[in-house]
Amino acid sequence: MEMEKLVSLCKRRGFLYQSSEIYGGLNGFWDYGPLGVELKRNIKEAWWRDMVTSHDELVVPSGAPCAYEMVGLDCTIIMHPQVWKCSGHYDVFHDFMVDCRQSKRRYRHDQVQGRWVSCQGRRIFVATEADGEEALQDTQHKALKFFNLRAKDADRLAWESDLLCLTEVKDFSAVLGPDAKELGTLTEPREYNLMFKTYVGALSGEEGAAFLRPETAQGIFVNFKNVLDSTRVAVPFGIAQIGKSFRNEITPRYFTFRSREFEQMEIEFFCHPSQSRAWYEYWRNRRYQWYLSLGLAGERLRLRDHTPEELSHYSCGTADIEYAFPFLPPGKFGELEGIAHRGDFDLRSHMEGKLVRQDGGYVVELGPDGKPRHPGSGKDLTYFDDQTRERYIPHVIEPSAGADRAALAFLCEAYQEDQVPDEHGNPRDRVFLRLHPRLAPIKAAVFPLVRKDGMPEAAQRIYRSLKPHFNVFYDEKGAVGRRYARQDEVGTPYCITVDGQTALDGTVTFRDRDTLRQWRVRADDCLGELRRLVGVS
Ligand code: ATP
Repeated sequence: MEMEKLVSLCKRRGFLYQSSEIYGGLNGFWDYGPLGVELKRNIKEAWWRDMVTSHDELVVPSGAPCAYEMVGLDCTIIMHPQVWKCSGHYDVFHDFMVDCRQSKRRYRHDQVQGRWVSCQGRRIFVATEADGEEALQDTQHKALKFFNLRAKDADRLAWESDLLCLTEVKDFSAVLGPDAKELGTLTEPREYNLMFKTYVGALSGEEGAAFLRPETAQGIFVNFKNVLDSTRVAVPFGIAQIGKSFRNEITPRYFTFRSREFEQMEIEFFCHPSQSRAWYEYWRNRRYQWYLSLGLAGERLRLRDHTPEELSHYSCGTADIEYAFPFLPPGKFGELEGIAHRGDFDLRSHMEGKLVRQDGGYVVELGPDGKPRHPGSGKDLTYFDDQTRERYIPHVIEPSAGADRAALAFLCEAYQEDQVPDEHGNPRDRVFLRLHPRLAPIKAAVFPLVRKDGMPEAAQRIYRSLKPHFNVFYDEKGAVGRRYARQDEVGTPYCITVDGQTALDGTVTFRDRDTLRQWRVRADDCLGELRRLVGVS
């Protein structure tokens, strides 16, 4: 599937728009249109239902060490600045960037690649932000331009390397930046904190400085004690949260995949340290199955364990659920969700102060005065098990998913093209979104075949009987074939048509988006039929 086709469909049919588009847009920010907002809500709703509200704490789920409880939370986006100092985000949540003095553009150091080439007695490194085949073409095009050659002279370029990451290049004086015309315009890599800074209240100085949260997780940790004290949950249990997060990404790209404002769906699961490996395995598999159950295909979805070098500063083990997005080069996957074994890092650091690695473990980082560099809350965040009389800091397993990346993956997976017979039996090209019925923005469209003989009235009665339960759509304009096509294109799984036979026997036609199968259902059983097909609502 070509990504441009999906991007154009998203804009044309109201799934996604660029933020502030009438002012030229704002890079890294996206708005969800009338259908997009339904899709994203359905994803969040499916996650919340499957993980939280319909979780049965009396039953041991398959693969879990024992039964467990789940509760939810909704925390603020701006929190006490000390939260980010203790979590480590203040010191270590950064990427390296390079600036181009000529084009004034900024790049993420590890996202620029390029190739060494020799020509006319000079050896230069031609850099690009593109990937794969596109990167090869782009570097060739730039090298030809730089050496003043025409396309037919391409064999005068002696390529000396495959694509390399800019991080492998030590001296930038021979580097031709992605948007530069001269060599050596890129600055040395510099650290760049990804947190958005803001000021709280009337204090405009550093005293009032605060950050927009770069993840929802920390709100859960700082409320751990509140939840324990105000509910009857006992370890093992999970706290779930869905909410906006903000990262000032250096190079937002790939449609909504890397945005600066996005939504996360996170669980912090608290367990006894001796059981944390088993819970990690459970969540890793459980979350992978969730995406499969909603329609992502096995060959484009994978579960990948991090190598020790990739592990975050806190993590004893992490696996990513990744999807082969069509905008990535062949064979490359993009992260949908990370499942991390965080040990007791977070609760301990909010208790004792920011931790740093030492001798295979963690210790509180000390400042020059010998006191904790970023002091913790000093509050007791341990857990006391009434039954075993044991006090300990629970270990945490964190499945952390992005709602926007999930929406994008479901859209990419759903996009299909085929041919269907038109009303004269001739083949007609069709674009349709094969979205899982739970995720589809509109669950059914109701049509009168023609605008006469009482059909509109009968169709409107059905529409009204369904509307309180499902997001359904009524349409009576144009040929019925075109109305089907419009619904297929936005992923509506079922169309219900009132036709000549309805007045005779009280039945209507149901049509399935994927198989095009049609069958008749009693008009007064449409709600029951839709419930059976989509799931209870
Ligand atoms: P990446 O390596 O792609 O930047 P990450 O490992 O930093 O992602 P996490 O910190 O693990 O991401 O965040 C958890 C989830 O939040 C990710 O799996 C992803 O779905 C989502 N997410 C993170 N950053 C972004 C972003 N800039 N835009 C959209 N979603 C994001």
